[in-house]
Amino acid sequence: MNKELEARLTTKNIKPTAMRILVLDYLNRHASAVSLKDLEENLESTDRITLFRTLKTFEEHKIIHSIDDGSGSIKYALCAQTCECDYPQDLHVHFYCKVCFETKCLPKIKIPAINLPEHYAPEEANVVVKGICDGCMI
Ligand SMILES: [Zn+2]
Ligand SMILES: [Zn+2]
Repeated sequence: MNKELEARLTTKNIKPTAMRILVLDYLNRHASAVSLKDLEENLESTDRITLFRTLKTFEEHKIIHSIDDGSGSIKYALCAQTCECDYPQDLHVHFYCKVCFETKCLPKIKIPAINLPEHYAPEEANVVVKGICDGCMI
């Protein structure tokens, strides 16, 4: 078992089971966000329900965040180690490439503060920029 991945789970108060390590390792090896379907197709001997529960646990403990990129399936990406997924300081822009269909985190680009009318309490925001990514542009 990978010590680094294990530590990443324990620091967020998640018990490092073999399944969780497997999913975390997969996310860690991918620069782009992944969907439940990606995990299902690429991780052998796993079932959809267990994978879904694992993702939900990760999301609740702020190991990963979910992204609705408009592609029809929710994608998941690893959070920065210090991320608390708080609005707005921990939220960043995502980029969806129309050529490779990959969704990437742009952690350095924060979501701009939006001035809402009185008595509106924002909790989350989703900013997805669509176009052609650097890998496909060259
Ligand atoms: Zn691309
Ligand atoms: Zn992200």
